[in-house]
Amino acid sequence: MNNKKENNTCSLKLYSTLTRRKEYFKPINKNIVKFFVCGPTVYNDAHIGHGRTYISFDMIKRYLEYKGYSVIYMQNVTDIDDKIINRGKEIGKVNDDLSSVCFDLARKYERRYNEDMESLNVKGLNLQMRATDHMDKIINQIERLIEKGYAYETDTGVYFQVNKFKDFAKLSNRKIDELEGHRLQEDKTKKDPRDFALWKKRDSIEYYGEPVWSSPWGKGRPGWHIEDTAITEEYFGEQYDIHGGGLDLIFPHHDAEIAQMEAVSGKKPMVNYWLHTGFLNVDGEKMSKSLGNFITIRDLLKEVSPETFRFFVLSTHYRSPIDFSKDSLHQAGKSLDKIKSYVDDVDEILNSEFEDEDVIEDKIDSLESTSYDVLKSTIVSFFNAMDDDFNTPKAIASLFELISESKSQLKDLDINDILAIKGFLVTVNDILGIIFLDDNGNNGDNEEALLDLIADTRKKLRANKQYDLSDDIRAKLTDLGYEISD
Ligand code: AMP
Repeated sequence: MNNKKENNTCSLKLYSTLTRRKEYFKPINKNIVKFFVCGPTVYNDAHIGHGRTYISFDMIKRYLEYKGYSVIYMQNVTDIDDKIINRGKEIGKVNDDLSSVCFDLARKYERRYNEDMESLNVKGLNLQMRATDHMDKIINQIERLIEKGYAYETDTGVYFQVNKFKDFAKLSNRKIDELEGHRLQEDKTKKDPRDFALWKKRDSIEYYGEPVWSSPWGKGRPGWHIEDTAITEEYFGEQYDIHGGGLDLIFPHHDAEIAQMEAVSGKKPMVNYWLHTGFLNVDGEKMSKSLGNFITIRDLLKEVSPETFRFFVLSTHYRSPIDFSKDSLHQAGKSLDKIKSYVDDVDEILNSEFEDEDVIEDKIDSLESTSYDVLKSTIVSFFNAMDDDFNTPKAIASLFELISESKSQLKDLDINDILAIKGFLVTVNDILGIIFLDDNGNNGDNEEALLDLIADTRKKLRANKQYDLSDDIRAKLTDLGYEISD
């Protein structure tokens, strides 16, 4: 029974923030899905709130692919921004060139972000586009906005004139008058305090040393919102399928993106489905760098396996808030262990029946269906849940039903049913990515446990003054690419 090649694409429903309801998913271009998610601002290590958002979108991309779509998943990298410049000023030395400090900082944290994503098994990105590599596109889009009468230049920059765009803030559903008090930059040159920056002029002495680019309006740098629409217009065109981000980006960022792109193209909607992830909170407050209540992904992964964190995240619906605590993370680890133990039981039966993995894979691929009712109903409920706006907690619950109903009977089942269960588990893992398998079919936890065991053994040897043997083990581990320091 092959679970991997389902073509029943029209059954998927997803909730769009724009229409505020679940809708059947239909891409603009038949089978191709253009999927854009706002990427990180790279000036610091990513925290687990970022991890929550990007794991959720990774699962969504995986599920769209499972449904048979060819997904082009793109993220931008905000590598020029006030936060990067401020951090550059903090860490730069007196004689350093601030521009180079900011550039190096952004590259360093972009690299570290990508490493973090890799360790979380977030691997599906097809395009990653830096704002600073698209200055000509950004400038060109601003020029067109000015030509069309939606933007104007002042002494301090170029601004989008909010009251020229009739539907402004339709995504957040805010009335234009309500916007008055919202984090508005005090700038007397603007026609209206609600107008937002497309280009920030940075010619004067007070900005000396900051990274700048030449433009028709003098030296300066882009506003935050325009980088995304310049990038998506370049690679996806004026209209595309899905745009995602965390809840906090709905206003003003995504509302501003819609205004810019729809104003420039004259076409609506810019995006058919707007997806937003809920926050990862600590004690009811959003985890954020500015509140200082964050744990970096790197720090968390010193304590728990990436599979556990991934499972913890996917145990909550992507739109709902998650309350982070070590206790709930620990519980998630225990639940994941139950799944892994079930996978081990299934593998044990298959390994005793068939000689090698390839034979098992071939047999799974050639299975047409299963007669095992428990599995049949699990498959139906798992995919119904996933089709219902990617309801991973419900899908995971159906997996646990399968486990509780079949674990004790596995040995009595027909081998074809065991193969069918294995096929389903592989598909579940392809979609959720909760059991990472290396090329040898081992999951990372085993390797970690083995290394811990070796490290402990060496400690004991050293405590018994058996230094030769302990050094020998260390040398052999070094040959194998593992470094151990005493
Ligand atoms: P930033 O680099 O701060 O722009 O954030 C990158 C992405 O992570 C955005 O989509 C944010 O909405 C998302 N994000 C930031 N903090 C959290 C959080 N605590 N929970 C969930 N998503 C978050």
